[in-house]
Amino acid sequence: MNWFGKGEIERLRRELGREVAARQTAEKHAAQLSSGLDAVPAGLVLVDADGKLLLRNGAASLGGHADVLLEEAVEHLLAAARNGETAEKRLTLFGPPQQVLLVRGLPLAGGGALVVIDDLTDRARVDAVRTDFVSNISHELKTPVGALAVLAEALADSDDLEINRHLAKKMMEEAHRASGTIDDLLELSRIELDGRGVREEVSLSSVLGEAVGRHRLRAETLGVQLCIGAVEPDSLEADGLQLISAVSNLVDNAVKYSDVGSKVRITSSVVGGFAEIQVADQGIGIPARDVDRIFERFYRVDRARSRETGGTGLGLAIVRHVASNHGGEVDVVSHEGEGSTFTLRIPLAVEIPVGS
Ligand code: ADP
Repeated sequence: MNWFGKGEIERLRRELGREVAARQTAEKHAAQLSSGLDAVPAGLVLVDADGKLLLRNGAASLGGHADVLLEEAVEHLLAAARNGETAEKRLTLFGPPQQVLLVRGLPLAGGGALVVIDDLTDRARVDAVRTDFVSNISHELKTPVGALAVLAEALADSDDLEINRHLAKKMMEEAHRASGTIDDLLELSRIELDGRGVREEVSLSSVLGEAVGRHRLRAETLGVQLCIGAVEPDSLEADGLQLISAVSNLVDNAVKYSDVGSKVRITSSVVGGFAEIQVADQGIGIPARDVDRIFERFYRVDRARSRETGGTGLGLAIVRHVASNHGGEVDVVSHEGEGSTFTLRIPLAVEIPVGS
């Protein structure tokens, strides 16, 4: 017995075909949505009014031990959001890797709830560096300014010409110290702001000559011999002022941390697509445990010696910044009591460093 006519069967078949096609399209869209949400950097967890999980993207799972803490926060905030409460929780996971997360629960219109997980690790790191930097600057400037106040007080109370001369000399030293720190801070911030800076054909002998020239007098006074050896290449594409600043800081250190009668040699050569500028001294050297840290702002191996020699603790931070602005690098080989050789590598082919 046939209940359906031929036309009816055809109609049902077309309807079924449309339904299958609609379902396939819906499945395709769901897959696209899910992979799209997996590409979102924020973690997302969505539940319906009964608390049934509708969606959880890739960034909402951390894996390992961290997941347990995150899960607790997510459950708590989803439950609150299903009751109409908007709330948030900042989680610090000590890792490794250390992470700072902001987890927010949001009630959705028509029931259901959404939890959004934002990774604040990078922002927290930048904030910490900034806070550290500001407190370092305050400390660095407070010391000479405090000394100036004390010296000025003593000067105001004294009638003795000899003592007054001595106090005035000390005041000048402290004022120079403060202005040295301010100059270096301005230089560092100029180089940071300039970023990649200009690119011009610069003569390397002029750069080295200018950088060395700034320290000749001081070197002579301290009995340190400065000499420029072979210089290659003749020229390169770089920001001339930034390069002079970097080399000048290296030469300044080489002179400062050398003893009477020693030599500082400045050379440059072409090695594997880079101009390698080397500043080698026969000075006090750097202990192995400090080598990795000396390029940090305000880091000094020996605070007392750096203070004596008028160091600001910013010179090598400037050098490292100039190197990275050029897509290059700086490193050091050093032996305590024997000397240090700093190498600044600047690519010969112009490169645009990431983030400039
Ligand atoms: P500073 O102004 O104190 O010299 P820098 O940033 O230029 O600051 O250098 C950081 C620290 O690295 C210095 O305080 C010093 O301890 C060490 N240093 C740098 N250059 C040399 C060098 N050529 N020889 C020995 N120690 C050095």
